[in-house]
Amino acid sequence: MNANSVDRLGSATPADVLRLIRAGHARTRGDLQRLTGMARSTVAQRIDALTEHGLVVTGQDSVSSGGRPSSTLLFNHRAGLVLSADCGATHTRTAVFDLGLNVVAEEVSDLNIADGPVAVLNWLAARFTELLMTAGDEAHRLLAIGIGLPGPVEHATGKPVAPPIMPGWDGFDVPHYLQQTFPVPVLVDNDVNLMGLGEAAIAYPHVSPLAFVKVGTGIGCGIITGGRVFHGAHGAAGDIGHIRVTDHHDVVCWCGNVGCLEAVAGGKALVANLHESGARTNSDVVDRVLAGDAAAVRAVRNAGREIGGVLAGLVSTINPAVIVLGGQIADAGQYLLAGVRETIYARSLPLGTRDLEVTRSRLADRAGITGAAMMTTEHVLAADSIDALVGAVR
Ligand SMILES: [Zn+2]
Repeated sequence: MNANSVDRLGSATPADVLRLIRAGHARTRGDLQRLTGMARSTVAQRIDALTEHGLVVTGQDSVSSGGRPSSTLLFNHRAGLVLSADCGATHTRTAVFDLGLNVVAEEVSDLNIADGPVAVLNWLAARFTELLMTAGDEAHRLLAIGIGLPGPVEHATGKPVAPPIMPGWDGFDVPHYLQQTFPVPVLVDNDVNLMGLGEAAIAYPHVSPLAFVKVGTGIGCGIITGGRVFHGAHGAAGDIGHIRVTDHHDVVCWCGNVGCLEAVAGGKALVANLHESGARTNSDVVDRVLAGDAAAVRAVRNAGREIGGVLAGLVSTINPAVIVLGGQIADAGQYLLAGVRETIYARSLPLGTRDLEVTRSRLADRAGITGAAMMTTEHVLAADSIDALVGAVR
């Protein structure tokens, strides 16, 4: 972001001005005059409008080099709050964030997504209400809600589409249902897309594209380019779990096809593989690997090789700068990573892997909630939203 992104010199909107202040490009009214070409009086109008809505505050000038003191303009993170939820199959993380992605309150609870949308969303609304109470006087500043769900979500409407582990959710209007309790914008996306968004925002802010691969019970991938989720036409981009792994055409997947990556290399497959030695959950698989169990190490490394084979296709298609592995099975650490790297490097051309980083998630189990908050604050702070809130003056 630079001053050039203010297209019409002399006519920056309040949103343009806020963006310059948020990015740290403009710290004073003088900076804004210089960057936007607007008259002093117009700059003053924009600042007044933003200040009135609490979005900008003026701080004490600490860098004045003599002469007339000029106050510093600062983006006020606490001008608003957003609620976020990262819903998994059996656990849900809920949180309140301010507009600077700072956590106000956060908690993890058991919640079975298979209980259906009405039960789950009623529970979520109750949790949200309690979390907001911890924000005290600021609770009325709720501006939007962001939700991650463990299944395919139609991007434009926020409705889940035939989610395999979410009976009753197909086509359910999640935003509309929650808006009956909270009359604010409600955004919904697939959990893996949001994990990628969170990881990209915090751990790789200047790296693009980023592919976040979740290896849990199933396998999915979120693709982030330029700080945004790449959804494809409807939101199905990155759904790599059902790419066929040709050597395993005898393995039947829940989707009805045979030889799908997640049917071969997902947590469910690993648990089945290690069933005889007593593994029943993804955590059992990880525990065995970390304890040095040879069969478990071999199974996880082989799963990594299969995943890497599919990711080699992704490397050739989008040339990611970084591939991040997350999800429960990623806790098995180096063995999964080693398998993934092995086949990616073997099957990709040198240019695709020249500076490619393949690594574990740094945000780990907080990637999804961070991404949900990121999606939501970006919506709140988007030019259209700010200009509508403050009143666009052009
Ligand atoms: Zn499948």
